Amino acid sequence: MKLIVLGSGTSVPHPRRSSSAHWVETRGGTLLLDPSATAVHRAAEEGLDWAGLDAVWVSHFHLDHVGGLAPFLFSTKYAPQTRARRKPLHVYGPRGTRKLLEAFDGAGDYKLFEQPFPVEVRETAPRAEFEMLPGVRAATLSTPHTSESLALRLDDTAGGGASLAYTSDTGYADALADFARGVKLFLLECSFFRAKSVEIHLELSEAMRLARRAAPGRVVLSHLYPEWDGVDLAAEAAKLWDGETIEARDGLRLEV
Ligand SMILES: [Zn+2]
Ligand SMILES: [Zn+2]
Repeated sequence: MKLIVLGSGTSVPHPRRSSSAHWVETRGGTLLLDPSATAVHRAAEEGLDWAGLDAVWVSHFHLDHVGGLAPFLFSTKYAPQTRARRKPLHVYGPRGTRKLLEAFDGAGDYKLFEQPFPVEVRETAPRAEFEMLPGVRAATLSTPHTSESLALRLDDTAGGGASLAYTSDTGYADALADFARGVKLFLLECSFFRAKSVEIHLELSEAMRLARRAAPGRVVLSHLYPEWDGVDLAAEAAKLWDGETIEARDGLRLEV
């Protein structure tokens, strides 16, 4: 399994951090974790096969995470790169994902579901388990962020042993650590360094508390607000957890 950071930022425009989007490559196919407005253009910039993308995960409906979903389908409808595509695109997300897409669709009569290939939307409940890609088991957990927001855990069952948990946006909950226990790579939001102004995001001390409880192989901190500019994230994290913590940067590539 490979992780490529497309966007390590938030809703706040930033010169080096695009909105929240992460690309995962598995033996069973490719997966986009949150279709932010810039996600697919960033994938093209990284030389990734956006036209062959197998699945999209929508963690919640904040626009820095989902604002690129309808535009992506608008592009695949007309792009030369997808004209010959016949394999389905799977869109997984919380309850309401289809309604959200239909609302976009209706706003401009785009016929986004009429594609050269099938678009299969599957809405998932919290605590669901299913096969997201061939050989890749997925599990979900409700998170304290929005009513629909979900964390995702992926386990490669094809024999590689890779596993990844993605919190997306969340406040603190012990349940997140139990959910992510023992994963090879724990991809956590860490919106703020300290003195966070809202309950529904994490600051560093909380992210590291989750790391201590979950005992993952490595931690990647993403969804970084501009408050992080100029802070040595890895050094600050090392004061709170003795494992390896990596600062997400746009373009970062990791073997899971
Ligand atoms: Zn966000
Ligand atoms: Zn959010």
